[in-house]
Amino acid sequence: MTTTTGSCMCGAVKYEFTGEPKVTALCHCTDCQKWTGGAFTSNAVVPRTSFRVTSGKPSSWDGVGDSGKINKHFFCPTCGSSLYTELEVMPDMTCVKAGGLDGNKAGLGNKIDVEFYTKDRVEYLKDVPEAKQEPAFG
Ligand SMILES: [Zn+2]
Ligand SMILES: [Zn+2]
Repeated sequence: MTTTTGSCMCGAVKYEFTGEPKVTALCHCTDCQKWTGGAFTSNAVVPRTSFRVTSGKPSSWDGVGDSGKINKHFFCPTCGSSLYTELEVMPDMTCVKAGGLDGNKAGLGNKIDVEFYTKDRVEYLKDVPEAKQEPAFG
């Protein structure tokens, strides 16, 4: 089975997951913009059981999503890199932020299944052809 590794910018936190992502998703919501300092997040959504931190200890911060449920954000306490999220609404999955993947894998193989919160997408970005377009989440 394939193992995909990732890490933060300073290298203190390392993680890995096995197998292919169940879903690849961009999220354009304003929380993702704030958290990453970018225009959107790109996510490899993987079963929580297939994901593990292999080095270091990420910090976390609980945000409240539009659902009213907790979105737990994990980041490196040293360099601040945004690493992954665990959403209370998706208790079996981990949303790994693709920018942290090692080996230039941030593009997720150029295969994006879905875009969330397209209502908040910045104007200079076009939709990804063939990606399902969701104005909000789900
Ligand atoms: Zn770091
Ligand atoms: Zn988002």
